[in-house]
Amino acid sequence: MATVQEVKQDALQTAKKYVNDVYETVKKCNPHENEFHQAVKEILDSLVPVFVKHPKYMNNAILERIVEPERIISFRVPWVDDQGKVQVNRGFRVQFNSAIGPYKGGLRFHPSVNASIIKFLGFEQIFKNSLTGQPIGGGKGGSDFDPKGKSDMEIMRFTQSFMTELCKYIGPDTDVPAGDIGVGGREIGFLFGQYKKIRGGYEAGVLTGKGLGYGGSLARTEATGYGAVYFVQEMLKDQGLSFTGSTVVVSGSGNVSIYAIEKATELGAKVVACSDSNGYIYDPNGINLDTVKRLKEVERKRIHEYVQEHPQAQYFEGCTGIWSIPCDIALPCATQNEINEASAKLLVANGVKAIGEGANMPSTLEAIDVFLNNKVLFGPAKAANAGGVAVSALEMAQNSMRLAWTFEEVDAKLHQIMVNIYRNSVKAADEYGHPGNLVVGANIAGFLKVADAMMAQGII
Ligand code: GLU
Repeated sequence: MATVQEVKQDALQTAKKYVNDVYETVKKCNPHENEFHQAVKEILDSLVPVFVKHPKYMNNAILERIVEPERIISFRVPWVDDQGKVQVNRGFRVQFNSAIGPYKGGLRFHPSVNASIIKFLGFEQIFKNSLTGQPIGGGKGGSDFDPKGKSDMEIMRFTQSFMTELCKYIGPDTDVPAGDIGVGGREIGFLFGQYKKIRGGYEAGVLTGKGLGYGGSLARTEATGYGAVYFVQEMLKDQGLSFTGSTVVVSGSGNVSIYAIEKATELGAKVVACSDSNGYIYDPNGINLDTVKRLKEVERKRIHEYVQEHPQAQYFEGCTGIWSIPCDIALPCATQNEINEASAKLLVANGVKAIGEGANMPSTLEAIDVFLNNKVLFGPAKAANAGGVAVSALEMAQNSMRLAWTFEEVDAKLHQIMVNIYRNSVKAADEYGHPGNLVVGANIAGFLKVADAMMAQGII
């Protein structure tokens, strides 16, 4: 007779083998898609204790099914530039998982966009959206179109062409896109106009992040940045710490960064640095957010212009140097893999206490290990940046009810959602034997709800 210990060891080996087999298949079936492999690996490794406890998910091939998108659409986007020349880009929409609601997730316009990037983002979105507690499935889309340096009319012609194809696959109860890198209020406006023109009906809930005058929600613009700070606030509170009096570094200077800086400053922190894809600024007096907002949101200029108006600040070329600035709290809000192992070690050596991921997958797997091994409080993206999509779901709810909540109402709901995500992640980490590990906790909490819905709905 096998001892209890041997049975437990057996279950663990079976679960590990299952996870490894699925991961190897993913690599084989999706060659060269490194970002997608990375996102899958992070989730799969976290789920081993779930399969030990509940073999039913293995028996129903939940993992094999969840790593395979329900549908991927890839399409040609032709458009005419200001010189009259025809340009062609590639558009994508991945409809990854609709077990708990219509596909939901942003659109990214950036030259780095390819199938791997869209699939990693869509895969992450499944678990993030589940964590919000709202009925939204996982999807993502975008294009390798580079909005940098394009005129408003070029942006409009491109987005109209993009929507002319995308509109065949989306709808308020089917798939609801929103913004991401390179897609903000201006682009959502053009996308919505084109969708409405083609459909010939006013389906407000087909896109989120809309302008306030035509179905948008108050606090959606602020939601991802505010949400990330609310999440970190909870992590800090549990350790008797707070933002008050702390020094903070925020990478990026887009929508997520700007509102993370705003909320962290409001909570008494001094944010000393931010960046764009060319370089970063360091302002020992604390970043002047009015200047950053004007440069980035209105004038669409580069961040180096900041030092012209604030001579005490310094500008440095390149993005990784920002992590050499000593800080108590780091909020990576720029893009994937912006913190590697070396940067993580530097942050730890300089005494960082907490990391809140505002961007999607900003830390490499090696960087995450450095943070966890050094007991740095680590808020993973799926949990910490879920505020944006959470308020998108609140926007959908308001559209369905044909009414609008006040800023304070939406902000209060966002705050509560972030607190719940934190508590549920802590609880799952405890229950599955990894106390304090929010990567494992968030992944498990997000996974269970989707997996149970998939089990209930049969083999589809
Ligand atoms: N792009 C955001 C994200 O990564 C928001 C998506 C949405 O609002 O649908 O979650």
